[in-house]
Amino acid sequence: MADCLFCGIADGKIKANLVFQDEAVLAFKDIAPKAPVHILIIPRKHIASVLDLGASDNGVIGRIFEVAGQLARDQGIAEKGFRVVVNSGADAGQTVFHLHYHLLGGRQMTWPPG
Ligand code: AMP
Ligand code: ZN
Repeated sequence: MADCLFCGIADGKIKANLVFQDEAVLAFKDIAPKAPVHILIIPRKHIASVLDLGASDNGVIGRIFEVAGQLARDQGIAEKGFRVVVNSGADAGQTVFHLHYHLLGGRQMTWPPG
């Protein structure tokens, strides 16, 4: 999608620090990390938010969680714990409208989130 930052990263037009990619999914380091490990996992396909998911997207969402678990192991945060977070809409603080899953870890998290 034109003018979408994360489509630009998926297309290789905008640089990012990639840590994983396959035909359906891309993962890269967050530019402003909120934890020692902060990786964004996205579908290559442009999906604006959770509200725009359809039945045909079930496969890629399952793949994203599989990649999240693998990256947690690779990054050494699997044992101590980590979070996978999706912000949706203004109240949740979504700023980029291409669906993305935050993988956060490497420090003690608080609950409930702010
Ligand atoms: P959200 O607020 O849930 O929409 O998350 C958007 C995330 O994208 C934030 O954590 C930003 O720091 C991150 N971000 C914005 N631009 C870039 C970029 N060019 N490369 C990597 N991460 C980015
Ligand atoms: Zn996009």
